[in-house]
Amino acid sequence: MPTSNPVRARPWPSWPRHDAAEAEALRRVVESGEWNGVDAPAVLAFERAYAEFLGAEHVVTCTNGTVSLEIAMAALGIGSGDEVIVPPYTFLATASAVLKVNALPVFADIDPDTYCIDPDAVEAAIGPNTTAVIAVHFAGHPADLDRLRDICSRHGLALIEDSAHAHGASWKGQAVGTFGEFGSWSFQGSKNLTGGEGGALSTGDARLAATARELRNCGRRPGFGWYDHFSLGGNWRLTAFQAAVLSAGLARLPEQIARREACAELLDRELAELPGIVPLARDPRTTAHAHHLYAFRYRAEEFGGPPLPEFCQALQEHGIPATPGYPRPLPRQPLFAERNFDVAATGWRPEHVPTRYAELDLPVCERACAETVWLPHNLLLAEPEEMWDVVTAVALVRKAKRTA
Ligand SMILES: *Cc1c(COP(=O)(O)O)cnc(C)c1O
Repeated sequence: MPTSNPVRARPWPSWPRHDAAEAEALRRVVESGEWNGVDAPAVLAFERAYAEFLGAEHVVTCTNGTVSLEIAMAALGIGSGDEVIVPPYTFLATASAVLKVNALPVFADIDPDTYCIDPDAVEAAIGPNTTAVIAVHFAGHPADLDRLRDICSRHGLALIEDSAHAHGASWKGQAVGTFGEFGSWSFQGSKNLTGGEGGALSTGDARLAATARELRNCGRRPGFGWYDHFSLGGNWRLTAFQAAVLSAGLARLPEQIARREACAELLDRELAELPGIVPLARDPRTTAHAHHLYAFRYRAEEFGGPPLPEFCQALQEHGIPATPGYPRPLPRQPLFAERNFDVAATGWRPEHVPTRYAELDLPVCERACAETVWLPHNLLLAEPEEMWDVVTAVALVRKAKRTA
């Protein structure tokens, strides 16, 4: 039954945001006639601007943040017979991209405080076939880049930062996406910087950047002809329209990051006061949190409330767009659990214990799936005072359930 008196009746800030800048940038691309191509001025301008924003040497754009992961692994020479360590609390692409290059994803559990991959679990998962680690900066909070960089360097593994949640996040003052061999970015519609769709890789390595450029452009090389194909890439090019919209959005990003930080700070402080509500931790080495999501734990027993889905429903009836996030660990998907992929292509053998996906023990991830509430980042673009609507709604749901 819908609540007759919702805490929040007016809408939250919409997403994506746009103003005259996007319209003007698009008009210029339309009239220029240069709508596509890796050397289109709008594409080159965005690659330069995003590299400068990150403090990265190279940015290579591509069609989306799934393909960017595939290109990163292909450029690193990862393929059949290799294992890549990934977290289980993430979007499909983090692990499916590994299968796409015929390597095997090995799931390592997450840290209970930040939900980013747990460095101890990574170390425990390293085997003779491990070649890389993909860390996800979950919700925009950096994974432990000190330990991950150290582990990867000591074991000779590549580090890929899946930064799809983390545009503008930084660790000890340095942008995420610049610690690993590659940072991988998504500009899909829900992300904190969007061109509708789109993706990119950042890297400090000129040779890796050149290989990524070649792969995303059908295996072509600068200085050769359009019919000279050197490697097995694909047409994974961003359009000039997307690049123009991305440049306009990038100009607005720093101010949005500051706003999200201010709103999240109020939520962290006030929600922590409520029994059974536990915000995620912030590592003190995090110098900017991108807050792609605002995630908090809801412990129904301590709270004295209903199970997670009903709790989210009750918040929605109060005008708070809460959802239960990833409902189960990624390896429980039939794709992995039933091994609905080309097993032979991966060089998989029965003794590959880490790939018995259905049997994996991932207690921290299981618990995160069972008790975590997500709020979307556009809610954090409201005024900080408006966060009281969230706090009030949570407190009201609690009172309603306790007197019921
Ligand atoms: C969105 C997302 C991706 C994939 O990006 P697309 O552009 O949608 O292909 C990869 N990893 C994570 C963690 C994501 O959230």
